[in-house]
Amino acid sequence: MRRWNGWGDDTVTHEVPEAARAKLAEWIGPATAPVDATLDEVMNQVQPSRLPDHPLVVTGLLERVRHARGQSLPDWLALRSGQIEAFPDGVAFPTDDEQVSALLEYAQKRGAELIPYGGGTSVVGHINPRPGGRPVLTVNMGRLNRLRTFDHKSLQATFGAGVAGPDLEAQLRAHDCTLGHFPQSFEYSTLGGWVATRSSGQQSLGYGRIEDLFVGGRVESPGGLLRLPATFPASAAGPDLRQLVLGSEGRLGLITEVTVRASPLPEREDFHAVFFPDFESGREATRLLMQTGVPLSMLRLSTGRETATTLILAGHELLIGTLERLLTLRGVSEQKAMLLFGISGREQLARSARKEALAITGEHGGVHVGRTFGNEWHKGRFHTPYLRNTLWELGYAVDTLETATSWEQVPEMITAIEEALIPGLEAEGERVHAFTHLSHFYKNGCSIYTTYLFRLAPDPATTLHRWQRLKEAASKAIVGLGGTISHQHGVGVDHAPYLQAEKGVLGTGLLAAALDYFDPEGMMNPGKLVGRSGIIAQDEFGPT
Ligand SMILES: Cc1cc2nc3c(=O)[nH]c(=O)nc-3n(C[C@H](O)[C@H](O)[C@H](O)COP(=O)(O)OP(=O)(O)OC[C@H]3O[C@@H](n4cnc5c(N)ncnc54)[C@H](O)[C@@H]3O)c2cc1C
Repeated sequence: MRRWNGWGDDTVTHEVPEAARAKLAEWIGPATAPVDATLDEVMNQVQPSRLPDHPLVVTGLLERVRHARGQSLPDWLALRSGQIEAFPDGVAFPTDDEQVSALLEYAQKRGAELIPYGGGTSVVGHINPRPGGRPVLTVNMGRLNRLRTFDHKSLQATFGAGVAGPDLEAQLRAHDCTLGHFPQSFEYSTLGGWVATRSSGQQSLGYGRIEDLFVGGRVESPGGLLRLPATFPASAAGPDLRQLVLGSEGRLGLITEVTVRASPLPEREDFHAVFFPDFESGREATRLLMQTGVPLSMLRLSTGRETATTLILAGHELLIGTLERLLTLRGVSEQKAMLLFGISGREQLARSARKEALAITGEHGGVHVGRTFGNEWHKGRFHTPYLRNTLWELGYAVDTLETATSWEQVPEMITAIEEALIPGLEAEGERVHAFTHLSHFYKNGCSIYTTYLFRLAPDPATTLHRWQRLKEAASKAIVGLGGTISHQHGVGVDHAPYLQAEKGVLGTGLLAAALDYFDPEGMMNPGKLVGRSGIIAQDEFGPT
C-alpha cells in the first residue's frame, strides 16, 4: 500500500549503507530519529466535513488525511508531526467526464473550493487545502486512467487525464509505443498532473518535455468546457491555448482528457557513464554535445561533490574502489565529475550517437567506463526517492530545488545556490550538505538541480524554520541571477512569491485575469500559482 506520510509503496525500502551513515555524521553531524505521529492520531484531528452528502463524495477520515498534503518538505513535516492545518472536507474519485462535470457543478452550488488531484506528488504545495477558507472538495482523477483512442498513423494517443506513469506506459507498450516521459515520480504522478505542472521527464532530451508531447485535450472549468483539438499538427490560428492549460496547476479547471504524441519503442536503449577530471570539462563537453546536435535521449552531469556523494550512497564499496583506482591511473581522481548519457532509438542511429558522444567527451578528458553505472542508474531511477524515507527515519531532512539558466550563467548560478544553502544554518550551529547536477539540456542552457540535507530539529517548528531560511535564501539567489524559479516542479505555494520576478506585473496580472475569466468565483485551487490580483505573497496562504 502507498505510504500516507512518506514516499512510495510501504513494502519497499532503500537502505543507507553504513559507510554513508558515517559520512553523513561527518558532514552534518549525528542525527536523532524523530518520533512520528501515528495515522490514528492524525485521523483524530480531522474536523467533521462541511460538505453535504453526495453519492460521489467520500468524507471518511482516511481519504481526507491521504489527500491533505503532497510531497514537499513542509508537507512531510506536517504529516510526520501530525500538525496539519487543513484537510479536504471530502474526496471524490470520478470514473468518467460526466462525473467530473457533476462534481464541478456540486462544488459550485455549495460554494466549495475544488482541488484537482493527480498523483499527489507535488513538491511545492500544489494540492494542499487552505486553512480557514471555504469547504474543500478534492477530486482525485486517478480513475480516469484508460487509453481512449490510439491513432496508429499519426502516433497520437488519447488518455483519461488521471492515468499514472506505469499504467500509461503499459497501455502504450501494447501498441509498441512509448511516451518517453519519465519524471522521477513516475510511479504515482499522472498525465493530467504533468500537463498542469509543465513537467519534464528524465529523457526529455530525446522525447521532449510534456509541452512537446501534449497535443490537445479537454478541460472542465467553472466557465464551461474548453476543448483543445488534437486534429492538426500545427496551427497559426492565433495564440496557442494549450499554453494556458500547461502549468495551470488546477486553477483553470479539471483536465479530463489528454492527447499525446507517442514514439515507437526504441530498438536499442543504453545508458553510459563517463568520468571527467573536473566538472568544468564535463560542462563544456555537454554544451558541445547539445550544440552539435548529437541525438542522445538523456544527459546528467554531476558536480564533484554530487559525484562523491552518489558513489558513497551507492554502497558497492568493492566495485567503486576498483573504479576509482582505474580512474586515478587515467588522471581522473579527487575532483571527478560523473556524466551519464542515454541513447534510445534505431540501432544504426544509436551506434553513431554513441561514437560521436564518446569522441566529444574524450576530447574533454572524459573516461568512458562502459554501461554498468548507466544501466544501474536506469534500473534504480524510480527507487532513489525511497532513500528519503530512510534518511528521515535516521533524523535527516532532504529537499531538492531546481532552476534553468543559460550556459554563460551556469557556474555562477551553481555557486550562488550552494553558497546560499551550505552556510545557511550557521547562525544556529547547524551544517548543510548540498550537491548539484545538470539535467535537461538545451542548446542555450540547461537545468540545475540541487539536493540538500540537514538535521531534523527536535521540534517540527524549528525544522520548518530551518527549511524556510534555506528555501528563501536559495530562491532569492536564483531569481537574483535571473534564473527561473522552477524548471519543472511548478509554482504552487512555495514558489508563488517569486513568480512576478519572472513574469512581471503585467504578466502575472494577465494570468490572473485569464484564470478569473474561466473561474469568476475563484473556486479552483485558490492560493496557488497566482492570486486574483496577480502575485501571491507567502503569508496569503498561511503557514506551509
Ligand atoms: C520523488 C519525486 C520526484 C519528482 N521528480 C520529478 C521530475 O523528474 N520531473 C518533474 O517534472 N517533476 C517531478 N516531481 C514533481 C511532481 O511529480 C510533478 O509536479 C508532477 O507533474 C505532479 O503530478 P501529479 O499527478 O502527482 O499531480 P498532483 O501533485 O496531484 O498535482 C499537481 C498540480 O496539478 C494539478 N492537477 C493534477 N491533475 C490535474 C488535472 N487532471 N486537471 C487539472 N489540474 C490537475 C493539481 O491541482 C496541482 O495543482 C517529483 C516529485 C517527487 C515527489
